[in-house]
Amino acid sequence: MKRYSAFAVAREALRYHSGWERAWAAPEPKAQYDVIIVGAGGHGLATAYYLGKNHGITNVAVLEKGWLGGGNTGRNTTIIRSNYLQDPSAAIYEKARSLYETMSQDLNMNVMFSPRGVMMLAQTEHEIRGYKRTAHANSLQGVSTEFIGPERVKELCPIIEIRGPRYPVLGALWQARGGTARHDTVAWGYARACSAMGMDIIQNCAVTGVRQENGRVTGVETEKGPIGCAKLGIVVAGHSGVLAEMAGFRLPIESVALQALVSEPIKPCMDVVVMANTVHGYMSQSDKGEMVIGGGADGYNNYTQRGSFLHIEETVRALVETFPIISRLKMLRQWGGIVDMTGDRSPIISPTPLGGCFINCGWGTGGFKAIPGSGWATAEMIARGAPGPLASAFGLERFREGRFIDESVAAGVAH
Ligand SMILES: Cc1cc2nc3c(=O)[nH]c(=O)nc-3n(C[C@H](O)[C@H](O)[C@H](O)COP(=O)(O)OP(=O)(O)OC[C@H]3O[C@@H](n4cnc5c(N)ncnc54)[C@H](O)[C@@H]3O)c2cc1C
Repeated sequence: MKRYSAFAVAREALRYHSGWERAWAAPEPKAQYDVIIVGAGGHGLATAYYLGKNHGITNVAVLEKGWLGGGNTGRNTTIIRSNYLQDPSAAIYEKARSLYETMSQDLNMNVMFSPRGVMMLAQTEHEIRGYKRTAHANSLQGVSTEFIGPERVKELCPIIEIRGPRYPVLGALWQARGGTARHDTVAWGYARACSAMGMDIIQNCAVTGVRQENGRVTGVETEKGPIGCAKLGIVVAGHSGVLAEMAGFRLPIESVALQALVSEPIKPCMDVVVMANTVHGYMSQSDKGEMVIGGGADGYNNYTQRGSFLHIEETVRALVETFPIISRLKMLRQWGGIVDMTGDRSPIISPTPLGGCFINCGWGTGGFKAIPGSGWATAEMIARGAPGPLASAFGLERFREGRFIDESVAAGVAH
């Protein structure tokens, strides 16, 4: 793989950009791999990448039914933060956040990580208590966050109306090193690095069945024929239940559509990310100037990967209260993605009842921020055959044992 650099850009500019290589190869599948990963979203690609980088396993295929990064990874609002309440969550989200800091250098691809700061507004007394508790927990976990008052909120984000009318801003949980990154470039960066290690990324290749013998996985059925593997990683977010059924087990997961929208581009007016959980909405400004606005999840299970009038109206109505200046903005586009929700709002990184088959899912409305940490932990689990320290709390058995990792405060707003 030729490295991207300022020198390479200058060289290609002089020869009409004729020397760039394809970012990743488009191979036909081989008959057998050491590991197959189903799903070329951020989590699947990061898993493949760390299998190669950390464990030297490169005879790997990543199978994708559509185009890579075309699922939730390319549809999210890109908020990155690690201010979760429970220790196992803080550990994996903080690992991920710290890997984002050096991802551009690591992958030799500019993922535009922008640690501009994330604030979660407290607009009720209950939220003040909840966020103060999280700030205390974070300081014990070594995650740098603080509870700030309304004046500091206004200083950091002058376009916020802190006096109400209905819900005044009473403070916020502030994580200065949280921020955003360019979502599809994260997928592209991992894909390019995996391809450079000799892994096969096979797009337009839906998995239609899971082959097994004596309780162990032996391969998958796909649109391009059967492919054998010694180990299988299922990393398909909103379609996890479908794949689990193919493999012969059930998951405590519900799939729902989550929506977002962007406005027309405007001049820079907001250089932090704001989440307003009580009124339910969150907003940041993209590098192009669009206001990126996240809405809610549908209240019923479905696989509809598109937006709806209901959520535009509900989300914008909620945000206009706190950001009156957006009231006259035009909407540019809206969309939806299928997210996989667990009851405790925490992910599943786990071996499954089928031998050699592992699953990573349940990131729900907030898994973009987790991609590198999740890939790191899932690769470790697949390579060793059992979860390592980052993943061990997130096993499927916790639902049987009633050992939930309750993150309903941290995930109180879809993000
Ligand atoms: C509107 C919206 C806003 C969001 N905002 C944020 C945010 O601000 N911050 C944050 O941290 N998270 C956010 N999220 C959540 C985040 O996007 C997801 O948690 C994360 O992207 C999941 O990544 P993934 O790789 O697991 O899944 P995906 O990116 O969905 O990848 C799964 C892949 O599996 C493929 N697949 C499915 N079935 C098959 C099959 N049978 N065979 C082969 N391939 C298959 C799919 O095509 C897909 O490409 C948001 C999500 C949405 C929808």
